[in-house]
Amino acid sequence: MAPLYDKVIKGGMVIDGQMVPRRRADVAIKDGRIARIGKVSSTDGAEVLDAGGMIVAPGFVDLHTHYDCAFFYDPWCSLSGWHGVTSVAIGNCGFGFAPAREGDRDYLMRTLTRVEAIPREVMELSLPWTWESFPEWMDALDRTPKGVNCLTYVPLNPLLVYVMGLDAAKDRDATDEERAEMCRLLKEAMDAGACGWSAQRTAPGSGYDVQRDHDGTPFATDLMSNETALALAAVLADYDHAFIQTLIAQQGDRTGKDPKSADNAKNAVRQHLEDLARVSDSAIILNAITTDSRTPNNHRTALAWMKDARDRGFKIYPQCVTSGGGFTFTFADGWNMYDDAESWRDATMGTTEERIAKLSDPARRAALKADRPKVLPVENVVVLKPYTEKFLPAKNCRLVDAAQVMGYDDPIDLLLDMVAADQGRTLLQTPALNDDEALVPELVTSPFSLWGVSDGGAHQKFLTAGAFTTDGIIKWVREQEIVSLEEAHYRMSTLPAHCAGFKNRGKLVEGAPADVIVYDYENLTLLPDEVAHDLPGGDWRRVQRAEGYRYTIVNGEVTFEDGKCTEATPGRLLRHGEG
Ligand SMILES: [Zn+2]
Repeated sequence: MAPLYDKVIKGGMVIDGQMVPRRRADVAIKDGRIARIGKVSSTDGAEVLDAGGMIVAPGFVDLHTHYDCAFFYDPWCSLSGWHGVTSVAIGNCGFGFAPAREGDRDYLMRTLTRVEAIPREVMELSLPWTWESFPEWMDALDRTPKGVNCLTYVPLNPLLVYVMGLDAAKDRDATDEERAEMCRLLKEAMDAGACGWSAQRTAPGSGYDVQRDHDGTPFATDLMSNETALALAAVLADYDHAFIQTLIAQQGDRTGKDPKSADNAKNAVRQHLEDLARVSDSAIILNAITTDSRTPNNHRTALAWMKDARDRGFKIYPQCVTSGGGFTFTFADGWNMYDDAESWRDATMGTTEERIAKLSDPARRAALKADRPKVLPVENVVVLKPYTEKFLPAKNCRLVDAAQVMGYDDPIDLLLDMVAADQGRTLLQTPALNDDEALVPELVTSPFSLWGVSDGGAHQKFLTAGAFTTDGIIKWVREQEIVSLEEAHYRMSTLPAHCAGFKNRGKLVEGAPADVIVYDYENLTLLPDEVAHDLPGGDWRRVQRAEGYRYTIVNGEVTFEDGKCTEATPGRLLRHGEG
């Protein structure tokens, strides 16, 4: 007689994601689903996976990624797959590749090159461009082999450009006819199973205007009116599985200047977000909540407002930055995160040679010193690796400290001298997005906060925050004991799955698709980040691996065993939050 089950995960400690205490149990899998959790005999499994001494938990769900292109060359979205993630949402922040006419492709690739540091060649070699409409894009995603499950937002930037044309989308609000057409196309995408829409809405002067389009202009979505956003939100009201992801300045002014007008602006944004939640009748995921020791009330009042809004029935969730240090970067590699300062924005655009020439140009120096990036201050950047002997004393120092030691009045002069001397190769690191570690637990433990922000697939040469799941277990549970392991699994699986409208993924329950991780809690290790030359065409990215994950299982099939990819591609496109 054939065994009852395909797999039995035997003898592990089950944490099911639902915030109930762990329990010792076996997990039986049949036809890609969890058939039974309890006492299961080894002889009932065609295959037995020994989980003795291991935690058995639901695979992690990462709702903030940019693997839109990566799915076509890295089916496991490896920066996430290595860290126990079994489902990802793509199309975040309003960026993506559909809908797109042939003539839009160049623009969309330029944008993703500049904003998310996805090399142009990688896109040229990987994207099959078999689509124009969003449903056709979803069909392409459906067809390509996947090692993790995928759901996709409709990114509003391509949609606005598709309907209005690039110039008009950057110049004026949509007309009634254009708005109606966008809503029609959004509805078509939702009917095909898209999970909602996403948009970066960091208008110039908002205090969060950290990344601009490839030519230095704001995105169409940065300029989109509230009226257009509300019309698009209303489309979602008809769907059970819809949600919105948006980056919007709702924490208040970072600089602390002019608190009254900042307060008014903040309140207007919050009112608008509640309006969006009301007309869409959908969850809204707000990116990205960080702490700033200069203005600790900003994140506190933002989180308090969201709690109050949820108590009034609005499904507004904070996506908090709970992991990672800063961005590691060089000016030679296309650094783009100083876009909030015009002089820096201009100096960091163009080819590598053009950028280095601009940053080295003495005639530009006064402007670069007068107009400084505010979101990620340059003065606090750490010099990881100088290449010119003269600048070796700056190694591992903040620019501001190195400047003092080396006799510079202004740290910007030191930075620009180094850049000129080594042709932009100096390896630098921004301060962590949360400047004071002591404040981060407020984000980690805030009611219904989502942990991250991963940004997996984006900023590939600067960031490895895709590893936030491993980091979260190690840092917040094992080392700092701020949350229980049960809560960590709830926050990184069940809660995001709930926000995304999944019917039964994100938790270990009988009948659910078998997305399961088996790992060694005591020995879970985050390895140092490293450079991997594994992108299509041979270009490199920054990666970070883990040790301690014994098995990662997607829809009942093992995709990683002891950190090694099995090459299995059981992932599915989750249309309508299912599949
Ligand atoms: Zn993003």
